[in-house]
Amino acid sequence: MKILIKNAFIVTCDGRIIKNGYIVITEDIITEVSDGEPPKDVPYDRIMDAGRMMVMPGLVNSHTHTSMTLFRNYGGGLGLEDWLHKKIFPAEKKLRDMDIYHGTMLAAVEMIKSGTTAFADMYLDADQMAMAVIDSGLRANICQLPIDPLGTGSSPVRGFYAKWGDGRYPRIKPYVLVHSAYLYGEDQLMLSAETAKELGIGIHTHLLETRSEYLEGIKKYGIDNAMEMEKCGIFDVPVIAAHCVHVTDEDISILKRYNVNVAHNPTSNLKLGSGVAPVHQMMEAGINVCLGTDGTASNNTLDMFEEIKLAAMLQKGINRDARLMTSEQVLQMATLNGAKALGFDYDLGAIRKGAKADIIMIDIDKPHFTPLNDPMEALVYCAHGSDVDTVIADGMILMEKRQLLSLDEEKILREIDSIAKRVIS
Ligand SMILES: [Zn+2]
Repeated sequence: MKILIKNAFIVTCDGRIIKNGYIVITEDIITEVSDGEPPKDVPYDRIMDAGRMMVMPGLVNSHTHTSMTLFRNYGGGLGLEDWLHKKIFPAEKKLRDMDIYHGTMLAAVEMIKSGTTAFADMYLDADQMAMAVIDSGLRANICQLPIDPLGTGSSPVRGFYAKWGDGRYPRIKPYVLVHSAYLYGEDQLMLSAETAKELGIGIHTHLLETRSEYLEGIKKYGIDNAMEMEKCGIFDVPVIAAHCVHVTDEDISILKRYNVNVAHNPTSNLKLGSGVAPVHQMMEAGINVCLGTDGTASNNTLDMFEEIKLAAMLQKGINRDARLMTSEQVLQMATLNGAKALGFDYDLGAIRKGAKADIIMIDIDKPHFTPLNDPMEALVYCAHGSDVDTVIADGMILMEKRQLLSLDEEKILREIDSIAKRVIS
């Protein structure tokens, strides 16, 4: 399949803006990006006209729990500990059969409709999540537990890796799930690190999300949770560390030293009353900071454009400096930086020759984009997920003119209604 996107206003997210150009996709790869008119004598299977649209890389959601769509708008007004223990954990006990698959499919509908083409997912049944990723056409880093919580002695992530890893499914990247240093003990942390090293994969974890996590960590380990993770070898492998709200200066230098990828989740951190991560300081230190929505139970949507705008504004506000967090930097957090964090071994997250063809088109023929003036500013401060018109992932058209082509939206919504009735009662 050879696709031509012409008349395109392209924001490549690796430093270029092409005001009138074209993109050629051959199978799953971007094979040409150029300004001007495309050569006329080439046969294409599809020609897409991107006039009145902005074209950019698909967004990368670097930390989410997709199936928590099932718990959307449930348990509001609680802090992290009460919310988890009183609402979420009891509801999760009622999940069965293919509930997680359906929850992920709902998330896939929402993500495609708001421009996300890749994500890092952490939840219960990784096989069901992987099936939904394959069926929806998206791309995901999916983590799984190193040890069976039921005490059978088996290692779920080893089974998951054997089935989905090693390049068998190029759109899926298995990682080891380390929920956090507050739910895990030292032995579990060390075993998780060993497992990741043996499999040659990375770890996805939560880190220093709340002030009480910071204080409890010091009580439990004598050092804070970032230092404890370093001590247990967690940072010896590639890591996505979600939140990092309550990191000290010393933690920041540890995260930098080990090239830990920090997933910033501004909406979730505000909604759960956790605080604001020192993103500007982490970026100044040279840490790869990317963006996530967290689960929809604490957000309550998967619209990455909301995170983009909030991430920019929060750092300007708390640091009292409007020059911080340029639009280009924030867009890169949501694309290139996220792609780097997900750990795929191919080029992803920018519109450039040789990169995977994950591309979104945003309809800018609307009052809230007019006049456009600065295109990056427009994408950060004016765009909503609902402005996304067309989505291509891995060279496949998943949505065109806001019509989903890979998923049956109506059927998925009705399935979720019936699951939600059972689990939240
Ligand atoms: Zn989370």
